[in-house]
Amino acid sequence: MNTHPRIVSTGTERISLPLATAFRTSRGSTQTTENRLVRVTDEDGRIGRGAGAPLAYYGETTASAGEALPVLLEAVERIGDPHAQQAIAADLAARAPEEAAARAAVSIAVHDLAARQTGEPLYRRLGLDPERAPPTSYTIGIADPGEMAARTRHVREAGYPILKLKLGTDRDRARVSAVREAAPEATLRVDANGDWTPQEAIENAEWLAEANVEFLEQPVPATDLEGLCRVSESVPFPVAADESCVTAEDVPRVADAVDIVVVKLMKCGGVRAARRHIATAHAHGLDVMIGCMIESDASIAGACHLAPLCEYVDLDGSLLLASDPCSGVEFRGGQVDLEAVAAGTGARENDEW
Ligand SMILES: [Mg+2]
Repeated sequence: MNTHPRIVSTGTERISLPLATAFRTSRGSTQTTENRLVRVTDEDGRIGRGAGAPLAYYGETTASAGEALPVLLEAVERIGDPHAQQAIAADLAARAPEEAAARAAVSIAVHDLAARQTGEPLYRRLGLDPERAPPTSYTIGIADPGEMAARTRHVREAGYPILKLKLGTDRDRARVSAVREAAPEATLRVDANGDWTPQEAIENAEWLAEANVEFLEQPVPATDLEGLCRVSESVPFPVAADESCVTAEDVPRVADAVDIVVVKLMKCGGVRAARRHIATAHAHGLDVMIGCMIESDASIAGACHLAPLCEYVDLDGSLLLASDPCSGVEFRGGQVDLEAVAAGTGARENDEW
């Protein structure tokens, strides 16, 4: 018997998120990104919030997400019960199979509302231990080596113990040395976003190992699983699949080629799908890093509650923004502060205060 207040209205709006500095990866440079903010409101006026960060690389845009969202939100209003998450997830997947970011936005908002209704933080609803959340890395985009070193010092002063460097250029070695010199003690991870050939990755591994890199993310193009496997067998540190492992269904294909998979709500389409992706990776003996796109805190807050399930965390997407209409879970020296969340995901709109 459902005794919880029903969802009576929903809404979505486009939000523009300017970055503090241009963010460059091997795929290009971004100065501003657009998300879709979603609100679901129950009959007592409680609001659950989420956001979607559609990525052209995965065939989604703010426009395509904007077209899918009214259809998805209509389904949520029809189901009405924010606790009917199995039914909601199935309905969303059927209505917009290609719009993972839009589905993720709705999924996060509904989970936020359901947890707010019971007065619990989302991680409690999921039965997770907040103390198990690993610290997040902080991403340094591609820039001149000196500029990357300066950003590194800034991030270290802010207390972040783990850095993730974007690579995929002809000056990668100089960039890694500059960052390593600026942060001799920091944990360094690198992400080439598929830019290297397997041979380049294997050659680069020599100086990456000298710089004591913890792991290497997506060294070769997404579809080159044979190359990914060859790199994994040849390099002395773990290799992670991000673009090569979009959903749980991809895990069996990459299981022999990598050590770690990167799970993102925006790739797999929601909280339940992310849990399935994480569990499938673990069942295949792989570690998991929970990651994000450049996103509003409205959606990163949702991902933070899955951090206790993962071995690695990379949820810094909103830290790269100059402004964000929402706030979410705070990081203390990189530590995801789930215990400070009173109810729901912890996402809130800044103009409420
Ligand atoms: Mg990546």
